[in-house]
Amino acid sequence: MQQLQNDIEKMLSRELELGGRASLNYKALPGVRKKDMTWNGFPARLFFNPARVASVMAKVDKQTLLHRQCFLCPEGLEAMQQSYLWKCSGDTAYFLRVNPFPIFERHFTISTAVHTRQEIAGHYAHMLEFSSLLHDYDIFYNGPMCGASAPDHMHFQACPKGSLPMQVEVDATLEKECGPESSDFLRLVTEGIWRVCRYAGSAYLLCGSSIERMQTLFDALMEARRSADALCHTNGDSNLSLISRREAWEGKRDLDDEWEPRMNILSWSENGEYRTVVFFRSESRPACFFEEDPVKRILISPASVEMSGIAVVSSEESFERLSARKLNDVISEVSLSQAQCRTIEAKLRGDIPRNE
Ligand SMILES: [Zn+2]
Repeated sequence: MQQLQNDIEKMLSRELELGGRASLNYKALPGVRKKDMTWNGFPARLFFNPARVASVMAKVDKQTLLHRQCFLCPEGLEAMQQSYLWKCSGDTAYFLRVNPFPIFERHFTISTAVHTRQEIAGHYAHMLEFSSLLHDYDIFYNGPMCGASAPDHMHFQACPKGSLPMQVEVDATLEKECGPESSDFLRLVTEGIWRVCRYAGSAYLLCGSSIERMQTLFDALMEARRSADALCHTNGDSNLSLISRREAWEGKRDLDDEWEPRMNILSWSENGEYRTVVFFRSESRPACFFEEDPVKRILISPASVEMSGIAVVSSEESFERLSARKLNDVISEVSLSQAQCRTIEAKLRGDIPRNE
C-alpha cells in the first residue's frame, strides 16, 4: 500500500542529490517568508515565494499554449527530471514527478502519460485512487482557467497532508462531529455532501467510503452546478477597462472554449473514507491582479492551494499588501455567488426537478 509513496519519496531524494533546478528551488524553500493570518476563525497563511512567479503570472490563453513546449510531456522535461510510471484502473498511465517549482517540502506532479486536455471527467476516480495510494498526501486538481499552468495536459499535484488549512479544518471538524450533523464550519446539504461555511465562498465537501459512492456524489454535484450556471448566468464584469486588461492576460472570454465548470478540487483519504472538497469558481483571477494603479495591485492567482488557505505570491509588494481581510475578499470574488450556491443546494436536495 505504501509502495508508491515510498518510491516517489526516494525519487525526490535522488533528484535533490543531482543538484539541478529542483534541488536549488527546494533548498530555497526554508527561506520563504510566511505570514499567519486568521479570518472568521479560519487559519490562512501567506507565502512570499519568488520562484513561483511563472505560475502566478502564467498566461494560458490559446495562442500562448500553441507556441510553447508542454512541460509535462517527455520532450519538455529538463535533463535531471525523473519520472515514475503508474497505471490506474482502466489502464490509464500517469507519470509522477518532483514539482521543480515547489510550494511544499514534498511536492509532486501526477500527469497522464498521454498529452490530453485538463479535464476531471474520466479522471476523478484516479484522483481518489492516488489519495488512497499516497495516504500521507493531499491530491489537488486545478481546472483550466483556475490556476492550471498546463490546461492542455491533464494533471494533479500532491503535497504533504497537514499542509493545507482546509484539509486540517475539515478533518478536525469531522472528528468532533462524528456524524452527518452540521457545525458552524460544515453544513449538511444532503447525505454525503456538506457546504463549507468559512473562508471558501462556494466549496462543497463530499465524504464516502468507496470510489463508486464518491463518483455518484461528484456527478450529482456537477449536475447541480450546471443547473446553477443555466439559472444564474451572468456576463461577468461590467467594468470595460477591467475586461480589456483581463482579456490581455486570459484571452477573450468565450465560454464555449471551456469544457467544464470552473473549479479546483482537493482530495485525501482519512479514517477509511475518501474526502473531497470541490471549490466552484467564477473568475480565474481577482480584479486586484489587473489593477492599473501599481500601488493597489496584488499579484495573486488563486488555485487549489489558495482556495485551501495557503496564499502564494511572488512579489514582495503583494506580500505586504495582502491582509487576511483582503485575501478573504479575493477568495469570495473568484467564487460563485450565494444565489448560485442556493440553486446548487436546492438541486442537490431535489427541490428542483432533475430534468428541467
Ligand atoms: Zn503535454
